[in-house]
Amino acid sequence: METPPLPPAAWGRVWRRTLATMAISAIGSLVLAQVLMLTLSQGLDAAGATASVILPLLLGGPMLFYMQLRSQQLSEANRRLEALASTDWLTDCLNRRVFTNEVDAVLQARAPGHNALLVVDADHFKAINDRFGHHRGDEVLRLIADGIKANVRDSDFVGRLGGEEFGIFLRDVDESVAKRTAERIREHINALSVQSDGFSQRLSVSIGGAAAQGRLTFAELFRTADRRLYEAKRNGRNQHLFGEPVGDGDSAAIG
Ligand code: GH3
Ligand code: MG
Ligand code: MG
Repeated sequence: METPPLPPAAWGRVWRRTLATMAISAIGSLVLAQVLMLTLSQGLDAAGATASVILPLLLGGPMLFYMQLRSQQLSEANRRLEALASTDWLTDCLNRRVFTNEVDAVLQARAPGHNALLVVDADHFKAINDRFGHHRGDEVLRLIADGIKANVRDSDFVGRLGGEEFGIFLRDVDESVAKRTAERIREHINALSVQSDGFSQRLSVSIGGAAAQGRLTFAELFRTADRRLYEAKRNGRNQHLFGEPVGDGDSAAIG
C-alpha cells in the first residue's frame, strides 16, 4: 500500500520521539563510558565524553528517525483503514454494521438515558433514478446525507442502512427534541430539488422515529421506528411519525 502523507501532528511526534530517544541514548552512552573508564581506574576526559555523546547520535540518530517515521506512517495507514472499513463509500456516513454496533453499545451501557432513533427513507427514489439516471441518484443520496448531517450534532450517529435508507441515532434527547429534529431534516430535504434537461423534481423523505428509554437493543428500537416509517409512506410520504417510546425506562433491566 502507498505510504500516506503524514499530518503535521504526526511529524511533531516523529521529531519529539526521535529527539527524546537520541537524548536517552546519549546520556546512556555517557554514563556507560564513565563507568567503564572508572573500572579501568581512569576518569573520562573531555574528548572521551564528547565522543561517547556524539557517536551514538551520529550512528543511531538517522535510524531512530527512520523508525519513528515508519511507525507514524503505519499508525496513519491503520487510522485510514479503520475509517474506510467503518464508512459508507458513497455518502461518508457510518456503514450499517458500524452504525448498529455503535447504537447497541450506547443502548446497552449501564445508564443509557433517553435517546432516539430516526429511520429516513427517500421518497420515490426509484423514479428519481429512472428519470435522472443512476449517477444523479447517487448525487441525491449524498445531498440527503449532507442534509441529515447538517441538522444533527457531532455526537449523534448517522448511518446508511442500505440503498436510500438512513439511520440517525440522537443521543441524550427526549422525544420532543427528536421530533423537532426529524421535522427539521424533513423540511431541509424538501427544500432541495434535482434538475436535469429541463426536468426538476423536489426531494422528500419519510421518517419513522422511536424514542428509547433505558436499556434495550438496536433491533427492538428499529422495529418500532421502521413500522412508523412504513405508515408514513402509506399516509402519503414527506412526513415523520413516531411510535410509542421503547424500553421500560429502567436502566438496570435488560432482556
Ligand atoms: P418509496 O417512496 O416507497 O420509498 O419508493 P422508492 O422508489 O424510494 O423505493 P424502492 O424500494 O421501490 O426503490 C429504491 C430504489 O433505490 C431502487 C434502487 O435501485 C435505488 N438504489 C438503491 N441503492 C442505490 C444507490 O446506491 N444509488 C442509486 N442511484 N440508487 C440506489
Ligand atoms: Mg424509498
Ligand atoms: Mg427504501
